Amino acid sequence: MTNELQDKVALVTGGSRGIGLAIAKELALAGARVAVVARHQEGAVKAATQLHGTGHEGFGCDVSSKSDVDGLTKTVTEHLGVVQILVNNAGIARDNIFIRMTKEQWDEVLDINLTGVFNVTKAFARKMLKTKDASILNISSVVGLTGNAGQANYSASKAGLVGLTKSLAKELASRNVRCNAITPGFIESDMTDVLPESVTNDLSSKIPLGYFGAPSDVAGLARFLSGPYARYITGQVISVDGGLAMH
Ligand code: NAP
Repeated sequence: MTNELQDKVALVTGGSRGIGLAIAKELALAGARVAVVARHQEGAVKAATQLHGTGHEGFGCDVSSKSDVDGLTKTVTEHLGVVQILVNNAGIARDNIFIRMTKEQWDEVLDINLTGVFNVTKAFARKMLKTKDASILNISSVVGLTGNAGQANYSASKAGLVGLTKSLAKELASRNVRCNAITPGFIESDMTDVLPESVTNDLSSKIPLGYFGAPSDVAGLARFLSGPYARYITGQVISVDGGLAMH
């Protein structure tokens, strides 16, 4: 695969680190100009400088804020052009057992992980439809398929993304806009770095391949699904999880 995304503009939310940064790097390697979005602008701007090639830019935006997202749409379109590849990757976890979970923990996770995807996709979709050649990729999670004790809020948000992905795939297919989801398992990042070693070891023993994945493992599939080799793939939910959840 070489330069298959030449002349395309991509936008990656949560692109300042972890899986999002790996995806932004991979899309840039494929020739896309990438708008890197994160809540903290300095992180997004720094990440944009780490990408291959030129024309990338970093933007600060809280995806859960509609006014932030409206501003983002305007600025990105002015600076880079019409987005044809959208990767909704920004996400957080606020884990707690359900009995102790607060409404704030519930709301914060749903507002960013699910409503954030609604906000960003809604803001960019109209222009994407006009191109009649676009891809939306949502980064869900394997726990959105299996559930996970201590992650009712997070699992619900990620399961919501699966339904959203399939509905959008059906609605937008007639305009050649594809929509797919990746469900990563345990991937090394700031999100999983907080786990104690004993938990990491225990989790690894449950993964058939026996270890946590790297952000680049997700990024390779993201590049494939966003590009022309996946032109006949839409509405799919694909796991990158070392075999953790076979379904
Ligand atoms: P991470 O290292 O914690 O990075 C999260 C990224 O999201 C950062 O760039 C962060 O930017 C951004 N972000 C958070 N809240 C935001 C908001 N309200 N608006 C805009 N950007 C926001 O996370 P990760 O592990 O790479 O995870 C990336 C995605 O994969 C998430 O959706 C996560 O749920 C999903 N996932 C991860 C794993 C895993 O094992 N790591 C497994 C399954 C699914 P700031 O620093 O500026 O806030």
